[in-house]
This record gives sequence, structure tokens and C-alpha cells, in this order.
Amino acid sequence: MHNKNISIIGAGIGGLTAGALLTKKGHKVTIFEKEPRIGGRALTFDGSALNLEEYKNLLARFHMNIAFSEPNIETIFNKRMLDNYRLDLGFHIIGGGALANVNNILSEIDKPVEFKESFIGFIEDGKYNYPFLSRLDKIKIAPNILRLLFANEKTLKELDSVSITDTIKKYGKGKMKLILEVFSRSITTMNDLDKISSGEMLRAQKNLYKGSKPVVYPKQGLKSIYEKFANYIIKNGGAINLNNPVDRILIKDNRAEGIKIRDKEYQFDIIISNILVQDLFKIADEKLFPKEYATELKSLKGTGSLCAYYSFEKIPSKLVGKTFHFIERDVGLEGNDVVGMIDFMITSQDAGLAPEGELLVQAYIICTPDEAKNPLVLKKLKDLLDKNLEVLIPDYKEYLKWAIYPTIWHLDGVAKTIEKDKPDIKTPIDNLYLVGDCVKAPGIGYNCALNSAKLIAEII
Ligand SMILES: Cc1cc2nc3c(=O)[nH]c(=O)nc-3n(C[C@H](O)[C@H](O)[C@H](O)COP(=O)(O)OP(=O)(O)OC[C@H]3O[C@@H](n4cnc5c(N)ncnc54)[C@H](O)[C@@H]3O)c2cc1C
Repeated sequence: MHNKNISIIGAGIGGLTAGALLTKKGHKVTIFEKEPRIGGRALTFDGSALNLEEYKNLLARFHMNIAFSEPNIETIFNKRMLDNYRLDLGFHIIGGGALANVNNILSEIDKPVEFKESFIGFIEDGKYNYPFLSRLDKIKIAPNILRLLFANEKTLKELDSVSITDTIKKYGKGKMKLILEVFSRSITTMNDLDKISSGEMLRAQKNLYKGSKPVVYPKQGLKSIYEKFANYIIKNGGAINLNNPVDRILIKDNRAEGIKIRDKEYQFDIIISNILVQDLFKIADEKLFPKEYATELKSLKGTGSLCAYYSFEKIPSKLVGKTFHFIERDVGLEGNDVVGMIDFMITSQDAGLAPEGELLVQAYIICTPDEAKNPLVLKKLKDLLDKNLEVLIPDYKEYLKWAIYPTIWHLDGVAKTIEKDKPDIKTPIDNLYLVGDCVKAPGIGYNCALNSAKLIAEII
């Protein structure tokens, strides 16, 4: 094999995973990251290490800000209430369970990470049940679920342009309807069922469920995953250069030849961009790409959410380690009904995110990127999150130490809809590839980024 000199622009989970897998294949990998940290949108930070200004700046650089907090955010920082916390930028869990993607990929380079994992519970009519699906439910819906999940790729392709609304009309009765309504929204982080592609949703599920519980969170935070990829790259002769924003991808005769940072040019055999695809033409000359390709890329939109972190001194022990969904009807936002999740997986003693005696709960409620910037909508969403938390813990305000509600308008890099497909890993420019959650690969969010890295490593 002829080893290649490869540059990756961005040290998000997509860039780092691709970097590790390509290093394993014997290529020389150099990563350039604009931030002083690796991890991208999946980064875990030390709550003791940032002041308020730094925290706000960090969120802003990832299309986020603090919509609400309790007490006010100045007090939280002045009283150093985040000391000894490890926090992700916002809500994060990984779909597909412990047997899915991450550890499969990690097993190629290192030991697996340890996960907290949970079934899904459901909050409805002022009550909750866990798990959401009883054994009897599973038996009842099994024929339809199996028919859908084990559909072959040809059928899934046909379903790619069929909305979940239409799939619900065909298969959605009783609990099956609720499953399609809730899971398709929570997987894609979009509420509008007319836009969600049935094929994409089922493919994501099919690729994920291999017998473990459906959602996981790595002990010690997402950092425990990306640090393994980064360490592997560095230990095996690669490099990760922080504070190095790539200004330009050098392209000549339809071929990517190198990159430019500040005034310095670097030559590479292959360039892989891990940045949001909508931003590609900030660092590559749009005129060198086919017009339709450039227009399409720039038209792609991400997804949004209001997230929440709640810290408690006490929670009912029956909630520890569990995750709950809810659906709120007729909210009047895009999609009309909105789905959210409240997650207690990391309240377990061994999750390693909160200091001793404090319990961290993460939550999110889905909205569009525009709604995620609208203060009136955000207030409505915050009240819905709090209302559902109150079902789980009726006296939660008594035990609440602090809460932060970050809003995000670029959660998923690209919202995959029935009208808009994600771009391929290969671009129209020779030797220029894309990796991350913006590109066509099985799964959504974190899983899409990981799978895109696997695909890249297969073709280079
Ligand atoms: C608040 C929040 C909650 C989320 N919750 C979930 C969840 O529960 N489940 C899930 O599956 N997914 C979730 N996601 C999405 C998930 O985090 C992303 O899908 C995943 O992290 C994307 O990784 P990536 O490698 O594609 O891109 P990114 O993480 O965006 O990485 C891109 C990197 O490129 C760098 N960069 C940009 N421009 C340049 C440049 N010019 N030069 C050098 N470097 C550059 C950036 O700084 C960044 O580090 C969430 C995201 C957010 C923000």
C-alpha cells in the first residue's frame, strides 16, 4: 500500500475517528483544529476551569448560548457552582446501545469505553412508566416493527422519500403510532413528521439495535472516547495542531493539493474536511466547484434544541440511571407536537461527571434552528421541560442546586429531510473528502460522524 500524507481540518469526533482509522492503515495524519481543544460539538469541559466569559465564548463558537439559568448565570460562576463538574456542551447521549458503533470502532485501536445504558421510559398524562414498552407491547407490535426494521436496502431506498407521516398512516396504530411519532423525532432532532424520511429513520435504527439497551452515555463523559482516538493518532506518528484555523484549501486543476494557515502553505496528498459543510466555501473557492453542488451545500440546514442541565442534592432512587421521553401536543411550533427527553443515566455514582453528593440530570426538547433563537419559543420550551421534570420529581425545586439551559441551533450538522439529502463523502474535487455528521453515512448526529469516518477509512 502506498501510504498517504493526509490532512484533516477539524478535531471533532468525525475528524478524530477518521484520523485514528487512517493512522491504523499506515497513513500519516495531521489534524488542524481552530479551537484550543479537541472534541468539537461533542466536547467535555472541566467546570472548574472556565470563567463565565470563557464559557459564553465557548458556547458561541458552537452556535449555542445560555437561554436561562437558575440562579442567574453570574451567581453560578461567582459562587463556583460548576467546580468539579465535567460538562458536555449540552445534552448528549449516543443512540444504539453499548453494542453499537463506538466500541466496535474503538476495538480496532484501543480498549472499549464503559457506558451507562438505559431503556426508554415515557412521561404521559402526569405519570410515567419505565420501560416504555412492556414485553406484551413488544409482542404485539413485533410483526410491524420487524417488517420495517428488516426491510432490505431496496425497500429502505424506496422509503427514503416517504415521510414518517405517511408511514404512520400505513403502520401506525396504538403504541406503534406513538413509537413512530416519538422515536423518529428524537432520533432526527426534528419535530416535523412531514419532513422526516422513513428510510433514513429505519436505517438508523436497523444499524443501531444489536441487542443492547437503546441509549448510552460513556462514563467520564464524551471526552473518554475522543481522547482515545487522539492519543492513538499521536502515539503512532500523527499530529494534532490546536489553535490552527485553516484559512484556505489549496485547489489546482480540480485537485486538492494542500492547505493554508495564516501565511503558510502545507502540501498534502489528501485533504479531509470535518467542518460544517455549509462553511466549506469559507475556506475553499466556491468557483472551483460545480455551481449546483455549491448551491446545494450552502442551502443545507442543521437541527436545534433547548437543552438543560439540572444539578440536584437528592433525587428519588428509582429514577437513577433511567431515561424518559415525552411528547407535548399542539404546541404550535413546526411539527405542532414536540418531543423531549430527560435523562438520569449520569446520576449514577460511577458516571464520573458530578462531584460527590451532587446529581446531574440532562434534558433536551427539540425545535428548529430558527425557533432555538426565538426567546418566546424558548420560554415555552423551558416550561415544558420543567413541567415534565415535575412529573418525575414533583418537589424538584426543593432539591435543585442549579440549572443551565443552553440553546443550540446547529445540533446536527445537516437535517436529513425527505427533500434534502446529505452530501457524499467524496466531493467533486479530487483528493478532497468530507467527514462528520453533515455527510451521507448511516445514523444521525454522533453515530453519523463515526460511520462517515469508517466509510472514509474504507475508501482511502
Ligand atoms: C448541545 C448539543 C447536543 C447534542 N446532542 C447529541 C446527542 O444527544 N446525540 C447525538 O448523537 N448527537 C448529539 N449532538 C450532535 C453531535 O455532538 C455531533 O453530531 C457530533 O459531535 C459532530 O461531530 P463532527 O465531527 O461531525 O463535527 P464537529 O464536532 O462540529 O467538529 C468540527 C471541528 O472542526 C473545527 N473547525 C471548524 N472550522 C475550522 C477551521 N477553519 N480550521 C480548523 N478547524 C476547524 C471545529 O472547531 C470542530 O472542532 C449534539 C450536539 C450539540 C452541540
